Amino acid sequence: MTETALTVHQTARPHGFPGTEHFAFAESALPDPATGGALVENLYWSVDPYHREMLDDVPGGFALGAPLEGRTIGRVIASRTSSLAEGEILFHRQGWRTHAVVTPEEVRRLPRFDGVPLTAYLSILGGTGLTAYVGLTRIARLKEGEDLFVSAAAGGVGTATGRFAKLLGAGRLVGSAGSAAKADYLLREVGYDAVFDYHDGPAADLLGKVAPNGIDVFVDNVGGEQLAAAVGALREFGRVVRVGTVSQYNTPDAVPPRFNHADIVEKSIRMEGFLVRNYHDVQEELYEFAVPHLRSGRLAPDETVVDGFEHIVDAFLGMLRGENTGKIIVRDRTQALPHQGGPHD
Ligand code: NAP
Repeated sequence: MTETALTVHQTARPHGFPGTEHFAFAESALPDPATGGALVENLYWSVDPYHREMLDDVPGGFALGAPLEGRTIGRVIASRTSSLAEGEILFHRQGWRTHAVVTPEEVRRLPRFDGVPLTAYLSILGGTGLTAYVGLTRIARLKEGEDLFVSAAAGGVGTATGRFAKLLGAGRLVGSAGSAAKADYLLREVGYDAVFDYHDGPAADLLGKVAPNGIDVFVDNVGGEQLAAAVGALREFGRVVRVGTVSQYNTPDAVPPRFNHADIVEKSIRMEGFLVRNYHDVQEELYEFAVPHLRSGRLAPDETVVDGFEHIVDAFLGMLRGENTGKIIVRDRTQALPHQGGPHD
């Protein structure tokens, strides 16, 4: 067990793309849990696009000089409550730090399914997978045979959306991504029928080539030009699932391209956004849907795993630049080594 704890703080507000200069690692003695609490050693961390939004001076954003928050999985290493046993593996929200003091109310116990790795609880079975599942089943209300376009298709939500859509009986599945290598991965591994690199020209032209007969549903992780193109390509009674707007998080001064408002009326299009935090009641249904497929091998988590807590800021910045394929997860080094008596054993 290490003697010190490391915590990431935000030191300044970025204008535009953030850099390492906006963060600092603070070292301290291991915190002591008070009666009723427990000390957790974090093992896996999620870094997410919404953290970029929280770097700004917005309501609910990160405070400067204070530990950042984020989803994480850890192991109890000292406990002063009978509700949390030493050695237990827990999910909680005090990420971006090696150690956290938690109370039983702040943690969630993870159901353990044989053959399912812990990282899946931050990717396809976690908030990322839940976002994809809610987007398809609650917002799009996808019907068998419907044709789908997904933006940022090679990211965490995008890959989960593609895999779930296939299992739910989607028709033609097309996506956009930031490189030819990602497009190739989506075609080969995830089951996309066609993918374009959005850097290769106007989105409307590129979408027109991969979906010449239009689409029924657009799952939008990106916004901007791709949203405008998709509205143009949607058929009558089409749906736009507004998941995120990652094309705008680092360009606060840019004016987003407008879509054709008349299309929404004339094609009876429904555009609906949502926040996954309002759909926790769907979590059990996601397990029931996804776990049998994970066990049978029909479904796989797509993940980019970065080893070493000291790389958490780089992993976050790399994700914003598109260096991840699937969900980006940071892993404590001990979990990368075999035979360490880790939670996989
Ligand atoms: P992710 O897609 O794994 O990572 C972000 C990706 O965005 C990058 O890999 C990059 O891929 C792409 N990107 C970056 N800048 C871009 C730009 N200017 N134009 C187009 N693509 C760009 O992240 P995620 O966690 O799965 O999240 C995806 C989206 O869902 C985000 O907008 C996020 O905010 C949103 N989200 C919403 C909810 C909710 O409750 N509504 C929950 C989770 C996530 P490329 O290489 O393809 O550029």
